[in-house]
Amino acid sequence: MKRFVLGVESTAHTFSVSIVSSEGEILSNSKSVYKAPEGSGIHPFEASQSHIASAPAVLAAAVETSKVPLGEISAVAYAMGPGLGPCLRVGGVVARTLAAKLEVPLVPVNHAVGHIELGCLLTGMKDPVVLLVSGGHTMIISHSGGRWRVLGESLDLTLGQLLDQLGRHHGLASPCGRAIEEAAMGGGYRRLPYAVKGNDVSFSGLLTASKTMLDGGTSFKDVSYSVQETAFAMVAEVTERALAFTGKREVMIVGGVAANRRLSEMMTVMAGRHSAAMASSPLEYSGDCGAQIAWTGWLAYSSGSWIPVQDAKVRQSWRLDVVDTPWRS
Ligand code: AMP
Ligand code: MG
Repeated sequence: MKRFVLGVESTAHTFSVSIVSSEGEILSNSKSVYKAPEGSGIHPFEASQSHIASAPAVLAAAVETSKVPLGEISAVAYAMGPGLGPCLRVGGVVARTLAAKLEVPLVPVNHAVGHIELGCLLTGMKDPVVLLVSGGHTMIISHSGGRWRVLGESLDLTLGQLLDQLGRHHGLASPCGRAIEEAAMGGGYRRLPYAVKGNDVSFSGLLTASKTMLDGGTSFKDVSYSVQETAFAMVAEVTERALAFTGKREVMIVGGVAANRRLSEMMTVMAGRHSAAMASSPLEYSGDCGAQIAWTGWLAYSSGSWIPVQDAKVRQSWRLDVVDTPWRS
């Protein structure tokens, strides 16, 4: 019998609700995205107020679009972390209230695992080396011994933060990744710091140097192009090492930065050298969304992982390599 799970995402700028079926159909994926004022980053409290204001309409739209009566929902999943405390609590309260009202199990989901499992559902990849690149993460991940393991990561800023902070320095409003991608088209290359340390990357020197370059009069176009070429080559290098080390046959990019076509292009060339398949999560689902939580919620629920409603909590820090994944065992 087909079952339905409702998932709530609220870790950062996005409040989103989705309903998926046990067969992997995404029946709705409604969202509202908090926009920070021009030139500044996410303000956690203001983002949480925006989530509170939009939650009723987003929830109503997700239920209506899915055409699934609330009484047919088998479980409610929510992003328990990692993320911004005030934002996480809004999703936690909405999910807990719904689970109590519907008298169904509550399923806590790790947001990063959510990006990966939804990516696998949508790309058809089974056991990939994953490049998770978003506002909150820059990690190279592979599954082994019952968990997703981190094989490399950023030592400071995430790739999303690098792009957003550069864009904000230029006066754009976050998120700035797409504007930088567009500006980079036809830009010229200028040398910038390239920092790979072991299998980790560091973007802080690259950010400082690119801001200085902008302040010195280099065009936003050239700086955008050069930042993309440098940062994407760094993550492609460490992903390549992870691919060679694990001997896996698939590479998948997930997280908001997966929308970037130049990143996909470079990763496809790299994967091709190892005869590995390469796929990026589709644009509509690459950023934060309820579907990543609902689908992973179904995987967890169907393998017996849920909690009593009264035990609901949020975890601002929650690394994905401590999360058991019984559905993959
Ligand atoms: P997420 O945290 O997964 O919602 O991803 C948000 C991040 O993705 C932000 O840092 C955006 O700037 C970034 N992003 C979105 N679209 C693009 C793009 N086309 N190129 C690069 N980065 C992007
Ligand atoms: Mg994310």
